[in-house]
This record gives sequence, C-alpha cells and structure tokens, in this order.
Amino acid sequence: DSPVPVRPGTDPAEVLHRIFGHTGFRGRQEEIVRHVLGGGSGLVLMPTGGGKSLCFQVPALCREGLGVVVSPLIALMEDQVAAMRQQGVAAAALHSDLPEDQAREVRRDLARGAIKLLYVSPERLSFDNTLTRLAEHPIALFAIDEAHCVSQWGHHFRPEYRGLGMLAERFPDVPRLALTATADPRTVEDIRVQLGLQDSPVFRGGFDRPNIFISAAAREQERAQLRAFVKSAGDGAGAGIVYCGTRAKTEQTAEWLRADGHDALCFHAGMDPAAKRDSHRRFARGDAVIMAATIAFGMGIDRPDVRWVCHLDLPKSPESWYQEIGRAGRDGLPARALLLYGAGDIALARHRIQESPAMPEQKRIERARLEAMVSIAEAATCRRKILLRCFGESLEGDNPESCGACDICREPPKLFDGTVPAQKLLSAVLRTRLNNGSHFGLGHVVDVLRGKLTPKVAQFAHDKLKTFGIGTDLSEAAWKGVARQLVARGALDVAIENHGELVPTDAARPILKGEEKVLLREEMLTARAEPRTTRA
Ligand code: ADP
Ligand code: ZN
Repeated sequence: DSPVPVRPGTDPAEVLHRIFGHTGFRGRQEEIVRHVLGGGSGLVLMPTGGGKSLCFQVPALCREGLGVVVSPLIALMEDQVAAMRQQGVAAAALHSDLPEDQAREVRRDLARGAIKLLYVSPERLSFDNTLTRLAEHPIALFAIDEAHCVSQWGHHFRPEYRGLGMLAERFPDVPRLALTATADPRTVEDIRVQLGLQDSPVFRGGFDRPNIFISAAAREQERAQLRAFVKSAGDGAGAGIVYCGTRAKTEQTAEWLRADGHDALCFHAGMDPAAKRDSHRRFARGDAVIMAATIAFGMGIDRPDVRWVCHLDLPKSPESWYQEIGRAGRDGLPARALLLYGAGDIALARHRIQESPAMPEQKRIERARLEAMVSIAEAATCRRKILLRCFGESLEGDNPESCGACDICREPPKLFDGTVPAQKLLSAVLRTRLNNGSHFGLGHVVDVLRGKLTPKVAQFAHDKLKTFGIGTDLSEAAWKGVARQLVARGALDVAIENHGELVPTDAARPILKGEEKVLLREEMLTARAEPRTTRA
C-alpha cells in the first residue's frame, strides 16, 4: 500500500494534472519544479496567491522519499493536509496544537515510512528528535514556507526559524526550497544567508497582474476625478475600494459618495468592532458597494469581483500599493486602479519619515520605498514596468518597454528631451565621488548643481568642481524629479544601506556619452508648488 498514488520519477506535468487537476504550470512554477527535481535548492519569491505551494508539492511527490514542509501557520497546514489526503496522498501535520496521541501516531507512521508529505512547525522539527527520526528514511525535499520568518528585519521574525539553518549541514544532499511573498531585497538577502542559500538561485515571479489597468494622476479636483473614475471603472457592477490617508477622510468620502448616489461604506481601525464587522459583512455580501477605507481594510477581503481600487493619497511604498490594488480583479476579469497624488503628499510623507521615532536605518529604508513610489506616480514611461522593477521583475510579453495596460502606455504623456539635465546630474554624482569610492545623497548633489555653498560643499571643496552651479536653471524640486526619472529607469541606484547614496549604474554610461536620450515629462520641470487641490 503506497503512501502516494504516484511513482517516483513520474513526470511533473502528469502529477499536476492527476493530483491537482490543473492543466498547466503558471509563471515560473515549472522551472522551479524541474530545478528541485534535479536536486537543486533555491528561494521562491511570489506574491500571495501566486501559486507557491505547487512548487514544493509537485517535486515532493515526484521524488523518492518524504517531503518535509516547514510552516508556522497551523490553519494552512491543516488545509493542505486535508486537500492532499483527498487526492490519496498520505499527508500529515505535526504541530503544537496536535493532541499528544495524534502526534504519537504521526511519529509512528513516519518511523515506518508511511507518510509522503509532512507539514511540521519549526519548533516541532527541533523537538523530540524529529530530525533524527526523519534521517532514517530518504527525504525528497525540505520546503520552508513563510521563509521571511527567519529574518529579523521583517515584522514576522520567529526565533524557531533560525534553527533551520542547520538543515543545510545535516542534509547536504536534500534540496531545500524556501518560499515567501516578501520581496524586500534586504529580507531576501537575510533569508539566503540564514538558510545557506547564497549559492542557490532566487526565483521571482507572478507579481504582474495584467488584468488590472493602472493609472495615476496629479490630484486636481479630487471628487470630480473620483467621480469620473467610478463611472468609467465601476459601471454599476461589482465593488470598488477608495483608500484614504486618514480615518476622517474615509468617513467624509463615504458620505460624499452616498450623497452622489452610491452605496458607500467606510472602514477604519478606529471604528467600534460591531461597525467594522457590519461594514465587512456588507462588502462581502456581493452588492455593488464602494468601501472608503484606510489600509486597515484588507485582511480577509476575498471578494473576487472588486472592479476598481482608487487611492486618494500616496501609498507609502510600491509594496503597499501593489498589495492594495491587487485586491481588484481577483476573478481575472478587467479591473482598474487609479492613484491620485499631490506634491504635498510627497512632502508630507517625507516629513513624517523624518520626524518618526524610527531608527536611522529604518528611516532610510522607508525613504527609499517612498521615493520608489513617487517614481511610479511621476513616471514618464510604463508604470507597470517600474512597479515590477521594484520586485526585481521585468515585463512579460512582446514589448519589454510597454505593458499596454497602463495610462502611460495607452496615452503617452508629452515628453521633452531631458538628456542634458540628466547628464548634468549624473556628472555631478560622479564628480562628487570620494576617493574611497562612496557617493553622496541627492540633497548634496542638488546643492552642488544649484551652486549652493553649504558647509558640506565647502568641506569637500565641491564649489571648485566644474559641475558646481551648472544647474541653476532648474529648481530643487525639478532636479529631484530628474533624479527620480533616472532611478526609475535604473541609471541610478539609491543605496539604502548607505545614507541614500546615489550610485550610477552601467545604464548611466550611454546617457553620459550622449548615446541614449532621456525623455522627461514636460510638467515635471515647471517646478511647481502644490497643485490646486480640493480639500475634503
Ligand atoms: P501562495 O501559496 O503563493 O499564496 P497557492 O499555492 O495557495 O498560492 O495558490 C493560489 C491559488 O492558485 C490556489 O487556489 C491554487 O490552486 C491556484 N494555482 C496555483 N498554481 C496553479 C496552476 N498552475 N494552475 C491553476 N491554478 C493554480
Ligand atoms: Zn504600461
């Protein structure tokens, strides 16, 4: 009586079809599955819902031996075990909520090699000589789900995860596949180091949601813009979400929407629990409702037919924006996202970070995320391309520069040739480089360009440089815009680790040599104060 209805060596496509009932792999699943089948280890970065589970389930079934899945989420373990059992796979879970008699039974089954797929919590893995027992039988692979829990940088650190580092030493021949939805570069590096995956590939994928049309606009007449968007995107069907920066604004917006003839609700963390539950329930029920909410609204929205998401205020990072707009179009049908922002939002967000009690290190990270968000808002080129770049991905499809499903691709903005300002900025970055190879941050570079004799400029004698004062024709805001465009196209990196140091990349060279043009959005250079806003 085999613990699995699949013989070792079975083709993964057949397993995918027969056990999971899917017709084909998605995105990078197949590549990952084959890599692990061949004995390789690696790290998988995919958003929630991206299809991470199959990446370890399929190779676990195709390889000989026991598949061990480390997971901190008991509910998820139980779900997957139940689903696998239904398909005739001998799966079991071992975690601290399991009654002792059942745990004993699982251990007995393990000892006689009667389990094919074991879900285990990290603390259980280190208890009861579990590993020693496991070592008595062949192991197909180790999957380490929610791998960001190993990193102290995130908010989900679990000390028990640290112990998983020894898997590499104790089982050098067993593939280890770590999986997470966190794509933050620092966390990713930390996971690789902690789990001994430095020499193994990182598979990123699935971040694109091509059915969501994305757009952004300067906030001019907020309500008129929202009204027009709701009309074009909602068309009376499905649901919509308006994300607001403050609790008060969610209430005002919901009220205004109701006055405008919509069924609108609000949701924020300050509401009493009964009111929150009520809002949630009404949203889930399936009517054509609009939810005006803070980012507190999100967990547990599984309504597939959210047709649109509008942000009335700038999100704090591309990760948050991505997650929030990702609540639209889960059914795969066309959906739309609109981001409204003002120069004031950007300044305010920067100020908030500056004034926050966070550690300098943390502030730098938050600032870099904010700047990345700003570069999406102010993009002169495909927004989806810039968004995906934040996750280390590029556009799929025929055109590597244009997604065809954002406002920029659909209707390119008026551009002008900004090659000269771009060259000036890049050369100021290069000329202020110190002998030890380090660079300065944006503030200093702009001071040099604008010929401002600050103490720092004097200290480094940067007023003696040829680039000193060559940029008085543009305002500080315009220079920052130029820098953001260069960051957005990858010609400049912002080294978060190092005081926001601006580091030119290889992509800067053709620009400096005049071999490549830099197109900037026209309105960006007319350095502006806060555009006309309609106050809520
Ligand atoms: P994650 O763990 O990345 O959040 P899951 O592994 O739970 O995502 O997959 C999310 C959903 O996508 C599941 O319902 C799963 O059945 C489905 N799915 C994953 N891969 C495929 C595929 N190749 N074909 C069809 N559906 C898939
Ligand atoms: Zn595009």
